[in-house]
Amino acid sequence: MKIICIGRNYVEHAQELKNEIPTEPVFFLKPDTALLPKQRDFYLPGFSSDIHHEVELVLKICKEGKNIDDKFAHRYYDEISVGIDFTARDIQQKQKEKGLPWEPAKAFDHSAPVGEFISLSKLPDLQKIDFHLDINGKTVQLGSNLLMIFSFDKIISYVSKFITLKKGDLVFTGTPKGVGQVHKGDLLEAYLENSKLLTVKVQ
Ligand code: MG
Repeated sequence: MKIICIGRNYVEHAQELKNEIPTEPVFFLKPDTALLPKQRDFYLPGFSSDIHHEVELVLKICKEGKNIDDKFAHRYYDEISVGIDFTARDIQQKQKEKGLPWEPAKAFDHSAPVGEFISLSKLPDLQKIDFHLDINGKTVQLGSNLLMIFSFDKIISYVSKFITLKKGDLVFTGTPKGVGQVHKGDLLEAYLENSKLLTVKVQ
């Protein structure tokens, strides 16, 4: 399986990192080794001194597709969760300045913890799915797909022009504003609506 991540999909997050608002989805990949095994703690890697949290809605692909039309895209995902796109912001900044790929900053081991998945059919309003991240009991990021620049269907359609989507692939759909550094000892809890789907302890 592969993990596809969308960058800069919320206006206020693009602005907080002083990035332009994209006119097409920005995406990058993480390998399957980026998943954090359930119940395992996240260990701050030695190569960075500025690991950031980015809480995101995560879609699970339910069937193979290529060149998927926007209007059929909803048939290709049926479950959703929340995940954290851990980012080595110090390394990413250097890579951006040099115009180099982001993988060292984004694709490292355990950089993609994902919560328990729930069926989209269980949600009352697919146009407005609220989510948030608490750190040590305090809410630090709040988002909703209502505020996305590119909708779930647009993302699926766009990415599938380049890459075949397969059953079991995950799509991180971008983070809202409020990203920041995590520290040893932090307890991260990510919620979809009011259900806590993911807990990560930082070591
Ligand atoms: Mg992200």
